[in-house]
Amino acid sequence: RGVVVAVDGPSGSGKSTVSREVAGRLGMDYLDTGAMYRAATWWCRRSGADLDDQPAAADAVRRMPLRMVTDPAAPGVICDGVDITAAIREAGLTAVVSKVATNLEVRTELKRRQRDLIATAVAAGPGVVAEGRDITTVVAPDADVRILLVADEQARLARRARERHGAADETALAATRDEVLRRDADDSTVSSFHTAADGVVTIDSSALGIEETVAAVLSVITS
Ligand code: C5P
Repeated sequence: RGVVVAVDGPSGSGKSTVSREVAGRLGMDYLDTGAMYRAATWWCRRSGADLDDQPAAADAVRRMPLRMVTDPAAPGVICDGVDITAAIREAGLTAVVSKVATNLEVRTELKRRQRDLIATAVAAGPGVVAEGRDITTVVAPDADVRILLVADEQARLARRARERHGAADETALAATRDEVLRRDADDSTVSSFHTAADGVVTIDSSALGIEETVAAVLSVITS
């Protein structure tokens, strides 16, 4: 049986980049659960379900024909036969994903699918690195390795600004601040991903580069 590595953290903590890199080096699958909440948001819009109508949105998500590609070299999201890997990163979708993520029936459905994907991965290969907000606590509390990746606000804003605007100057930081902080606040209503649960190892990446953070995660896995 393969190994399950659970990584949680807020946006800008570096968890996607680092989880993907770690999975690649260990020959494991990579599961981005945030991409599933984004896909659910895309699918509700596509199928005409009102995001504010919680039962209707949950119904739509239960019918969502979603396929997650868990190859860390080319992770992808296919919904209803459409490759939505890029579309789910758009600002307009990012701005409303919390509506879907705070829908408890949606969370129940996605948790079930995430557990299935993790089970399939560990049955087939060396394991999976699954990342999100509630993997160490709700989706896979019995994971072999559980890590909370944190970074201070300044570091998270600078990373997002560079990612979105190619620079971390004042204008880019201001444009990023609202998105990151508001989404954190919205997300915090469903999961407390800023504090580590019992048995979860916290890694602070504020002063670390990608390579150093990858090394820190690898050392927790092999310890
Ligand atoms: O990680 P990413 O920014 O792509 O996640 C998008 C959104 O999905 C988050 O803002 C959060 O609302 C939701 N999410 C969640 N639980 C997870 C992963 C993501 O609620 N395990």
